[in-house]
Amino acid sequence: MKLAKKTALITGILGQDGPYLARLLLEKDYKVYGLIRRYSNPNFSNTDFLGVTGDVEFVTGDMTDEKSLMTIFKLITPDEVYNLAAQSFVGVSWEQPKTTTEINSLGVLYLLNAIRQVCPGARFFQASTGDLFGNNSINGIQDEDVPFKPRSPYAVTKLYAYWMAVNFRESYDMFCANGILFNHESPIRGQEFVTRKITTGAARIKLGLADELILGNIDARRDWGFAGDYVEAMWLMLQHQRPDDYVIATGEVHSIREFLQTAFKRLELGNWERYVKFDPKFSRPTEVHTLWGSPEKARKTLGWSPKVRFEALVHMMVDSDMARLKA
Ligand code: NAP
Repeated sequence: MKLAKKTALITGILGQDGPYLARLLLEKDYKVYGLIRRYSNPNFSNTDFLGVTGDVEFVTGDMTDEKSLMTIFKLITPDEVYNLAAQSFVGVSWEQPKTTTEINSLGVLYLLNAIRQVCPGARFFQASTGDLFGNNSINGIQDEDVPFKPRSPYAVTKLYAYWMAVNFRESYDMFCANGILFNHESPIRGQEFVTRKITTGAARIKLGLADELILGNIDARRDWGFAGDYVEAMWLMLQHQRPDDYVIATGEVHSIREFLQTAFKRLELGNWERYVKFDPKFSRPTEVHTLWGSPEKARKTLGWSPKVRFEALVHMMVDSDMARLKA
């Protein structure tokens, strides 16, 4: 007798992490549903990039519309739910705090209610963020014991979602796990994020399509990992016997300056400072100076560790942008 396939619902399927997670789950023989908003012309470029568009069943709904989510849950009764949908760009959260709250906070409440009512045994993953810590750390490092002190509307909306997931776990005995994800990147990272701006910008300069790159604060330091590694941690969290919350990070920190240096060096462009200009319009009302996570708990409990390191990640993104622009 063949066991029934596990069913997973991924929200945010068309973003960066969604396609990587879909590929992983399809390889593990899951039936994968992906939540997409209603668009006249949906953009499948990221799922196309990872070759999963034809294998995912797309369902239409919206994180801000509880009824649409409830209908989807009744239709597919998933075994596992991965909530990756978000207004995920920190800078925009100052301009659109209400929309960011509706998607990132209330949307999570709607998902949790839908699980509780329709499929209470389903396992729930919430994409939390290292931004929850703000500038708090213990000896410079951020792990699960460091108190949260969010410094952007984005981080505040994620704080609500984090605690709501914990509360549903404790109140209703539901399997809810938070991945406190530090920055993770890939060739399909959104174009507005600084890492992708740098890799695309450097590739454009190399090909003579641009002669400068305009950025905001380049002194910030981040713990950058590869999205393909981070989705594996998400899956492992939902396979564990006990739901819990984990920092997912590489344990290595680098500045944006180092990112620039590594990207420009990859393309033999010489000194990056010749090309990079500063525009205060890209600065934020408050900055988080350093995000540097400790993945020790995830390593010990889940057996997870990142495979792609900083330099390989930058090279992967630069090479991909070069190939794409040449094509
Ligand atoms: P992303 O590329 O911005 O993707 C977010 C996805 O959410 C998009 O596909 C977007 O859909 C969808 N979405 C937004 N509003 C929605 C709504 N109202 N209804 C349904 N879908 C909606 O984000 P990511 O980089 O893959 O990150 C995945 C998750 O991890 C996010 O929750 C993010 O906040 C969190 N996270 C990411 C990082 C990181 O470094 N990448 C770090 C910490 C936490 P459209 O395509 O229709 O716009």
